[in-house]
Amino acid sequence: MSTITNHMPTAELQALDAAHHMHPFSANGSLGEEGARVITRANGVYLTDSEGEEILDAMAGLWCVNIGYGRDELAEVAARQMRELPYYNTFFKTTHVPAIALAAKIAELAPGDLNHVFFAAGGSEANDTNIRLVRTYWAEKGQPDKNIIISRKNAYHGSSVGSASLGGMAGMHAQGGIPIPNIHHINQPNWWAEGGDTSPEEFGLARARELEEAILELGEDRVAAFIAEPVQGAGGVIVAPDTYWPEIQRICDKYDILLIADEVICGFGRTGNWFGSETVGIKPHIMTIAKGLSSGYAPIGGSIVCDEVAEVIGGTEFNHGYTYSGHPVAAAVALENLRILEEEKIVEHVRDVAAPYLKEKWEALVDHPLVGEAKIVGMMASVALTPDKASRAKFASEPGTIGYICRDRCFANNLIMRHVGDRMIISPPLILTPAEIDEMFVRIHKSLDEAHAEIIERGLMKSAS
Ligand SMILES: *Cc1c(COP(=O)(O)O)cnc(C)c1O
Repeated sequence: MSTITNHMPTAELQALDAAHHMHPFSANGSLGEEGARVITRANGVYLTDSEGEEILDAMAGLWCVNIGYGRDELAEVAARQMRELPYYNTFFKTTHVPAIALAAKIAELAPGDLNHVFFAAGGSEANDTNIRLVRTYWAEKGQPDKNIIISRKNAYHGSSVGSASLGGMAGMHAQGGIPIPNIHHINQPNWWAEGGDTSPEEFGLARARELEEAILELGEDRVAAFIAEPVQGAGGVIVAPDTYWPEIQRICDKYDILLIADEVICGFGRTGNWFGSETVGIKPHIMTIAKGLSSGYAPIGGSIVCDEVAEVIGGTEFNHGYTYSGHPVAAAVALENLRILEEEKIVEHVRDVAAPYLKEKWEALVDHPLVGEAKIVGMMASVALTPDKASRAKFASEPGTIGYICRDRCFANNLIMRHVGDRMIISPPLILTPAEIDEMFVRIHKSLDEAHAEIIERGLMKSAS
């Protein structure tokens, strides 16, 4: 067989892809017929496809390429590390410099006494670690029945059996026999979709108090931990009302429940602080990290653990670990990524330059006839599409139909913007400049206008009754 290169005709690549490559979160049958877009190169905030089109990537890959594409420093560090020590494990009384240096750097950046890192190859693995960490913690403290983890509907915590059980995605729970036992889901703080006639403030409090109700119902001595994303990402960039997080913190403190912040998207600058927990004002015992940790240049994730939990876990042999926990090449790449984030003051760029400019333009999208609410925290943002702003109506069509039309228009206009149901979301590279933001909005407006016209033409601008 000939070598598969970027220079093969697109149709041939697509045919081979359809024949042999099973895509995640895809209907591979229909994708195969349509043909997947082949991405060949990337630089800065732009991707290039096999037809030579330049595409503005407003999703930073999958929420991860925070420093942008094409940074040679990371490639050089990876090559150097591969030559020096491509692999060694950290299981059996051994360690290596990249894992040591990265763990120490993360401990320095993380707030409070989050001083210990357990490495994984991504966010799903890290959340599986967290399930076993919190249950082992309480078992070691003589409370083995304190093993229920409370999470939220429409949360995303990964795709492995454990992490998808923590997640609250109905479509995932419908396949493959999950969730595992002793995971309990409460409702999400999505005011636009579920707030009814209450104010956002009342609704935020009510949804936080569902945690307290669940603890009282299940028993304080049965609940080990609560896990949540500071801002729900894959669920549609859902930003909780201001009243929500202080109440969650109060409840976790009162009932002695470990708080796990899933920072896989929010961590490393996305919200305008190093961690989303700082932005929403919570003090977690454990943080899940991945994605922006290496800006996606290498697969790595982990759990940042506070002193108290690390000390208790350290009192026993924790029978858990991955072949690639702290992989030296991935760790070296992540360390270089953190150096760039810090030295180039990218978190400050988000906070002082990119996010304020993006916010001004993003919030103005509510003037578009299709847009109901526009939400933004740092460099992650969403709009709810609606046929009737005043009543916050949903569309009469199958949920996601309108979002999908809009997403396809963006794609055709060389803009990567995702849809979650009938919400449109972005999570661009953090290095986005004001000029690139302007260019992005040219494409956003064109796509929304075209989608609006198509929706009217197809008679879909109708409210669900
Ligand atoms: C992507 C994601 C995960 C899963 O990370 P993987 O590296 O895909 O396993 C977990 N939590 C959140 C919040 C995520 O966005």
